[in-house]
Amino acid sequence: MVIKEEIKEIERKCAEAEMSLKEGAKNLVFGKGSEESEIMFVGEAPGAKEDELGEPFVGAAGKNLDGLLEKVGLSLNDVYIANILKYRPPENRGPLPEEIEEHGKWLVEQIKVINPKVICSLGNYATKFFLAGGDVGKMKEQIGITQIHGKARIIDFLGLKIKLIPLFHPAAIIYNQSLKGEWEKDMEIVKMALKENQEKVF
Ligand code: URA
Repeated sequence: MVIKEEIKEIERKCAEAEMSLKEGAKNLVFGKGSEESEIMFVGEAPGAKEDELGEPFVGAAGKNLDGLLEKVGLSLNDVYIANILKYRPPENRGPLPEEIEEHGKWLVEQIKVINPKVICSLGNYATKFFLAGGDVGKMKEQIGITQIHGKARIIDFLGLKIKLIPLFHPAAIIYNQSLKGEWEKDMEIVKMALKENQEKVF
């Protein structure tokens, strides 16, 4: 099966699965972009607009993300975008550990199929999820985004060797415009990582 079809199949199974938050949500928010991409961006959870449209990062934070990607010459054809949580938490509260555990399993399935070389974790939850190797119990002890944004590191994520690049969450930039410059600087690291990968292939 080609990657796109495999992802569709996982999405279909995810949509059928009984899960926390499903009942209160309008739509499953699974992922978007290119399944063949070497780079994934992973956020926290869908907001109201994402819930309404069934797509990640289509609200205010998404507009910010699009603009920031465009600045470094990336578009949805070059990246795959997903969240840890597949359904919107009520009133945009943060994800609970048990929700991360349950929904994160679907993210892991997505990652196994897409097999990205680079993952950009957006904000604290996603960053800690990857630093903890997907072990929710170890997320609390991980360092926060302010200390490690833009610092690339190779992680062993459930047997996959991935370059993790933590980035500020694009929603944080809405409230704190001074982070925009940091984001742009961090994205240069992302560009470099992608270039290194391509050089290895050719
Ligand atoms: N914030 C996220 O983390 N994900 C979305 O899809 C939208 C906002």
